[in-house]
Amino acid sequence: MAEKVLVMVGAHPDDESFGTGGTLAYYVQRGVKAYYICGTRGEVGEVPEEMMKGYSSVAQLRTYELECAAKVLGLTEVIFLGYRDSGMAGSPDNKHPRALAAAKLDEVAGIITHHLRLLKPQVVITFDPVGGYHHPDHIMIHNAAVKAFHAAGDPAQYPEQGVPYKPQKLYFHVFPHNWMKFMVRMWKFFGRDVHHFGKNKDIDLWAMLQDEFPVNAVLKLDKAAVETGEKASACHASQLGGAGSGTRRGLRQYLNLLLGHKDTFMRGYPPVNGKKKEKDLFEGVKV
Ligand SMILES: [Zn+2]
Repeated sequence: MAEKVLVMVGAHPDDESFGTGGTLAYYVQRGVKAYYICGTRGEVGEVPEEMMKGYSSVAQLRTYELECAAKVLGLTEVIFLGYRDSGMAGSPDNKHPRALAAAKLDEVAGIITHHLRLLKPQVVITFDPVGGYHHPDHIMIHNAAVKAFHAAGDPAQYPEQGVPYKPQKLYFHVFPHNWMKFMVRMWKFFGRDVHHFGKNKDIDLWAMLQDEFPVNAVLKLDKAAVETGEKASACHASQLGGAGSGTRRGLRQYLNLLLGHKDTFMRGYPPVNGKKKEKDLFEGVKV
């Protein structure tokens, strides 16, 4: 029997859980095979000294955390693209020879094409065009995943990367704008630096407000999916500050609270026609 397959393409260990953990859990719990293609091992994430005990590098620790999250979410496999975390925009890590953000788009897209042809997903998820919060690695992954999505079914593109296979739908995970506005105002009011937000101080919430993308699909998550997503996020302990301290987990929890457990997506393919919002990313998919 043919099976439903979902692939999330992200940049770091934690992107799968912090953004789309609930969605991945939701589909796995409904028998869908889910994979995470991860650009880097999060080499330059800041990790508290005491958490490094027993690990030789940040990459090793964060790989371990991702394995934990993948197990919780029930992912079939995590695939690493082998690039290096580029850190925040403008940091020296951007220029490292293996930095994901400095790689050639064509090369990254070629490797993703290879994996899409192997895994044969009907549905592919990645970041929105600004990578959610302008992280240079996220933007690279968005561009490369879009290119790979369209190349995968085209025998003329990347002929060395396997047998052509055409995925059916492409989605970009987006944070709902209205709630973002509300939260950023609230955080600003409480004196938080909304330009350097999160554990690695790399989230410019203010800039995020300037980007607005349409929401074409709203996935309502049930309790089991939400809880599994939160449990997976908890695996990334090195990237979480104290509870409720306005970290990415904080952001996620506020969103959960405010949105009544929904994940929102913009559809990249097929082109959107009309205003009706989809309720299921696999709507209309032929298996
Ligand atoms: Zn990331």
